[in-house]
Amino acid sequence: MTSIKATNITWHEGHVDRGDRQKLLKQEGALIWFTGLSGSGKSTIAFTLEHALVQRGHMAYALDGDNIRFGLNKNLGFSAEDRTENIRRIAEVGKLYADTGVITMTSFISPYRADRDAARETIGAGDFFEIFVDTPLEVCEERDPKGLYKKARAGEIKGFTGIDDPYEAPEKPELVIDTSKVSPQEASISIVEMLVKAGKIPALSD
Ligand code: ADP
Repeated sequence: MTSIKATNITWHEGHVDRGDRQKLLKQEGALIWFTGLSGSGKSTIAFTLEHALVQRGHMAYALDGDNIRFGLNKNLGFSAEDRTENIRRIAEVGKLYADTGVITMTSFISPYRADRDAARETIGAGDFFEIFVDTPLEVCEERDPKGLYKKARAGEIKGFTGIDDPYEAPEKPELVIDTSKVSPQEASISIVEMLVKAGKIPALSD
């Protein structure tokens, strides 16, 4: 991709800051970054968590990998370069969401460590929660919710993460979830607890 660098642009400060928005929402913005193999359960947990947070009275929004590829990132494929650009855009959008005070979930395979580390840097360490959905490949392949593993094994899809493209596991994720051991609801509860501990949302008794 060619990069176009705009000149003659100046950052314009608004009159409402993040603290004002957080006071209004009674929560702090955060970006919960799910990473893991296809079929590991990222989207399922993200949507379960989104529902749980909204029911608890919080503004939450899940940015889903496939859904984003229908719109914002529809000009990107799955080459290493396009995967990196995919993640860079998501990180920038996630940063805007977190700045609005919304608890935001992203569910993208995001297989490369360097891309996720760049996302952490973009968003800021205190707002970034990397959740490694560490479901064994055999379980993901057995589930195969979109029939993609079957196609990858048959050679109909090239460069499929976990089959013929690498997945670089996180070294220091904020949380690890193995969905062959816990349900989406249990996973969602542990993430809510993590957010309370981090001071992003109040404990229920507060
Ligand atoms: P990903 O977003 O990581 O590609 P999905 O959430 O789309 O994964 O698919 C995971 C599949 O596994 C879904 O069909 C879901 O119903 C199933 N599944 C079974 N058990 C679990 C669990 N404990 N947590 C999450 N998903 C599960």
